[in-house]
Amino acid sequence: MKAADFDYAAPRTLDDALALLARDDGAARPVAGSQSLGPMLNLRLAQPGLLVDITRIPELRDIAVDGDALVVGACVTHARLEDGGYPDPTGGVPARVAAGIAYRAVRNRGTIGGSLAHADPAADWVAALTALGADVIVAGPHGRRSVAMADFIVGAFETDLRPGEIIAAVRIPALSERARWGYVKVCRKTGEFSHATGAVLADPGRGVARCVVAAASGRPVVLDDPRLLADAAARDAAVAARLGGDPAAIRPHLVALRRAVAQVTP
Ligand SMILES: Cc1cc2nc3c(=O)[nH]c(=O)nc-3n(C[C@H](O)[C@H](O)[C@H](O)COP(=O)(O)OP(=O)(O)OC[C@H]3O[C@@H](n4cnc5c(N)ncnc54)[C@H](O)[C@@H]3O)c2cc1C
Repeated sequence: MKAADFDYAAPRTLDDALALLARDDGAARPVAGSQSLGPMLNLRLAQPGLLVDITRIPELRDIAVDGDALVVGACVTHARLEDGGYPDPTGGVPARVAAGIAYRAVRNRGTIGGSLAHADPAADWVAALTALGADVIVAGPHGRRSVAMADFIVGAFETDLRPGEIIAAVRIPALSERARWGYVKVCRKTGEFSHATGAVLADPGRGVARCVVAAASGRPVVLDDPRLLADAAARDAAVAARLGGDPAAIRPHLVALRRAVAQVTP
């Protein structure tokens, strides 16, 4: 199938992009790498009247250190994060996560902001940025606001974004020198979407011990209790209580988290 007809605009400033999104009465939609929106257009699951291509807006393509955080523009591609070469106060975590997304052709076009806005429960940035305690910087007709990742994902393919808003950037807190990162995707082939994801950040320097289970049916499960790193039975019980349902179905999630915990445990 082919996409239904749509108009196309490629503004060069964030203000122009927001004005276009506001003007078109809800029929306009941002597009970044088009790796998810493209198939939806072709299947006519999405039929926007206007596509606002935001990839030519310089501020959305920046990567910079700001105070104690790495700030990544929404239109930075997975490939650019994978390749490194930018100052990184997280010790290389974004590069490692990006390298595990799909395959290089997808990573060359797919963006961190597009991935979060699409909010596939199995998406790598959804899991990793939740575990890192990142904030999403959202720009809209009434200015900017910052939303914690744990609140940004509301459910499967559902976010806190309001009409006319776009993701401008992601703010990832710096990690201390003693920080350890564990990340495990359960999938049959390299580069596949995950069937179960475990992500763990243990950063004693900042008092963080966070376990995240993602790629389940809804928003990620976040467990912020340092005792759970050392107590596998309590951890499994906490995950099972949050995911509920069939024990066989939650088993891959328990395994993913167990393996991620093993990566941070000396
Ligand atoms: C074959 C294949 C395999 C994949 N495997 C993986 C995988 O293993 N792991 C993984 O995490 N991902 C995977 N992906 C997803 C891919 O990595 C992209 O991140 C994802 O498709 C969306 O990014 P995008 O920039 O292409 O967004 P687009 O497709 O351009 O947009 C997606 C949605 O987000 C909206 N949007 C885009 N940017 C913004 C913004 N800044 N603000 C607000 N709304 C916005 C669009 O309107 C649209 O609704 C895969 C994709 C493909 C095609």
